[in-house]
Amino acid sequence: MTNSWVNWAGDQRCAPARLAAPRDHAELAAELARATAEGYRVRVVGSGHSFNDTCLTDGLLLDLSRLNRVLEVDRDTGLARVQAGITLAALNPQLDEYGLAFPNLGDIDSQTLAGATATGTHGTGGRLPNLSAQLHAIEVMTADGRTVELSEQSGSEAWRAARVGIGALGVITACTLRLVPAFVLEGVERPVPVEEVLSDLDSHIDSNDHFEFYMFAHSPMAMTKRNNRVELPPAPRHHIVDWFADIAVSNHASDALCRVARRRPTLIPPLQRAAAYAFSYRRQVDRSYRVFTTPRLLRFTEMEYAIPREYSADAIREIKETAQRFDSPMPIEVRWVAGDDAFLSPAGGRQTCYIAVHQYQGMAHEPFFRACEAVFDRYSGRPHWGKRHYQTADTLRERYPEWDRFTAVRRHYDPDGRFANAYLDRVLGPVSAGQHQVDQPG
Ligand SMILES: Cc1cc2nc3c(=O)[nH]c(=O)nc-3n(C[C@H](O)[C@H](O)[C@H](O)COP(=O)(O)OP(=O)(O)OC[C@H]3O[C@@H](n4cnc5c(N)ncnc54)[C@H](O)[C@@H]3O)c2cc1C
Repeated sequence: MTNSWVNWAGDQRCAPARLAAPRDHAELAAELARATAEGYRVRVVGSGHSFNDTCLTDGLLLDLSRLNRVLEVDRDTGLARVQAGITLAALNPQLDEYGLAFPNLGDIDSQTLAGATATGTHGTGGRLPNLSAQLHAIEVMTADGRTVELSEQSGSEAWRAARVGIGALGVITACTLRLVPAFVLEGVERPVPVEEVLSDLDSHIDSNDHFEFYMFAHSPMAMTKRNNRVELPPAPRHHIVDWFADIAVSNHASDALCRVARRRPTLIPPLQRAAAYAFSYRRQVDRSYRVFTTPRLLRFTEMEYAIPREYSADAIREIKETAQRFDSPMPIEVRWVAGDDAFLSPAGGRQTCYIAVHQYQGMAHEPFFRACEAVFDRYSGRPHWGKRHYQTADTLRERYPEWDRFTAVRRHYDPDGRFANAYLDRVLGPVSAGQHQVDQPG
């Protein structure tokens, strides 16, 4: 029987020689030793929520979903040690029981912790960096079965490389997170004309803890979302209201509109204008992780770029204009994050605006995404490591000032390229192709 694996979007698949779901370090080390003996390359998969070929392999595919426990929590320091294969959906309520939370989260909670941090997954908030910046320590198993603990205190080269490592250094088995006291968010959604938002962008970003908006190519309206911390008790919505808001409207109704648009692309402009009018005022007050994330049921593919924050308004206008030339019924999403110091973080060293474009399943995405990428290129864009892009190591190297330092750590931790695949060969280059040697990257 042939093994097969497919990602969440259903458009990236592979037939690994072996699939394994180790239960502990010993089983994981044995799998790695066997892969080395058989000459297989190795990839780790989290929840398969990346849109590109980052997880694909014809060698050994490791599924860490059985390494999914919370190991230790210290309420006083806010440090929590957890196994790397746990999903954010499983982790958030457990942290809440200890009175702790992530300061920021993305749109969904289906990702594994290691999968989310490995690609620089982010939420929105001009003062808040991406999820990998919440890491305090990481335990990595290299191809020879050794485990290495890298920590914030060490500040080492490997620490700065491993936080956003795209699975290139080894298997992340556990992480220690630095969390904040649990908090309640008030989420307010409101339609505002795009040009009104863009004319006063900094104050929208800076006067809210978390500001973002969605817009359609063919509508002048933006659906703004502001999430702010409040000293109110959580007021969870009745599950019927939740179902109506998150499932019926956000998923089933949108899916139905996208299906119509896929059959009749000429209807996209009027459908988008109508859908934008359906945007309405919505308010939610609840535990932070319940406000940040919502279920996503309709299937699509996505490109997202990180550009310097100062270019936000110009780039947003250009992407909106570009999107008008292509048939996509789906919205454009815009968010902001603070910079951080991971070598390959798309937000590394700069205040960042993230712009994401989407295409509904079964509709052509490549010409649309390539046209958008040409815009992002002009604004020094760095692609989200878990989403579609067409860059190579040659085009990316100059966009990351610490590129060679990452390459040196990678060569030290994975000298034989055991954890490489076609994606990493393309976007990072082969392990042996590094330019500069550092003495002790560990
Ligand atoms: C509906 C949807 C909504 C999304 N929303 C957001 C969002 O709001 N913000 C955002 O930034 N992104 C978002 N994403 C993208 C998503 O967060 C990233 O692609 C993330 O990496 C997926 O996590 P995963 O657990 O599925 O990892 P996978 O996609 O399975 O893997 C991602 C990478 O991590 C590596 N990896 C996984 N586990 C390990 C491990 N234990 N050790 C070493 N390497 C490992 C894999 O090899 C791969 O390179 C979204 C994706 C979807 C489908």
